[in-house]
Amino acid sequence: MLPREVGYARPSTLDEALELLVSSDGARPLAGGQTLVNVMKARVASPDALVDLNALEELRGIELGGDGSLELGSMTTYTEIVESAEARARPILGEVCAQIADVQVRNRGTIGGNICANDPTNHLPALMVALDATMTIVGEDGSRDVPAEDFFLGVYMTAAGPGEVLTKITIPPGRRDGFASVTIGRDGTCIVSAAVSLEGGTRVALGCVDAVPHRASGVEAKLRGDIENGDTSLEAARAASAGLGATLDPPGDIHATAEYRQHVAEVVVARAIVQAGSKGGHS
Ligand SMILES: Cc1cc2nc3c(=O)[nH]c(=O)nc-3n(C[C@H](O)[C@H](O)[C@H](O)COP(=O)(O)OP(=O)(O)OC[C@H]3O[C@@H](n4cnc5c(N)ncnc54)[C@H](O)[C@@H]3O)c2cc1C
Repeated sequence: MLPREVGYARPSTLDEALELLVSSDGARPLAGGQTLVNVMKARVASPDALVDLNALEELRGIELGGDGSLELGSMTTYTEIVESAEARARPILGEVCAQIADVQVRNRGTIGGNICANDPTNHLPALMVALDATMTIVGEDGSRDVPAEDFFLGVYMTAAGPGEVLTKITIPPGRRDGFASVTIGRDGTCIVSAAVSLEGGTRVALGCVDAVPHRASGVEAKLRGDIENGDTSLEAARAASAGLGATLDPPGDIHATAEYRQHVAEVVVARAIVQAGSKGGHS
């Protein structure tokens, strides 16, 4: 199916983009188009106008701070993250971006688009919660910072509202992170994903079990004692994730029953814990 007729503008500054977005209720930012154009073709979304962010150099690039934190422009593509020397300061970013779909999607798709789409099967929303990322949103009234935990509001709904642009994602320093998923085929869509960070307070987040990333606080509490004892063995990880499934109420669909997702959640959390534990501390 073809999308219906749509207006198109390619501003060269962020101010111009914001003006265009505010001037029409039906205008939407266009990033890599890897989700938006597909949902337009399926007529699930029919924006009146697309405001293409691709000419905004101010939304691209990766900066490494002196403390090891990273600032990623929202229009940075997955491929740019995978290939970036700076992004290696938080290795999990490149490791997970390299798992997304295929090379065509990775060359076009952006970190900001992935997060703003908040498709529960996407790889990055749960990862951003586990890494305790901060999203910078700019609108007519100025700029505000929103923690990842408060950014995701529902399927395809985030704190970046109409007339606003996500400009930057800030990731604190760290290395001891893990990500595991069970997917539909190799490199396919996630059935359940888990992201774990053992840095600065243990954080465990699951994708595909709810409309927004699910923070597994029970697992985090169990893990903290093990980590203080330096134990991230498979046995300890399995013990920490045991019983998690029963606390979840995931959807069932054509790809997996709810019961299967509950079981897989425990498996992928344990794998992500072991992966995080196998990595060294700050470089
Ligand atoms: C075949 C295929 C397989 C895929 N498999 C996976 C997968 O396994 N895992 C995965 O994570 N993803 C997958 N995707 C989705 C892909 O990662 C998309 O790139 C991503 O979901 C959206 O990023 P984008 O840059 O293409 O954004 P777009 O599609 O352009 O935009 C997505 C949404 O975000 C909004 N938006 C974009 N940027 C901003 C911004 N800066 N500020 C405010 N709003 C913004 C848009 O208005 C739109 O609503 C797949 C896509 C395809 C086509």
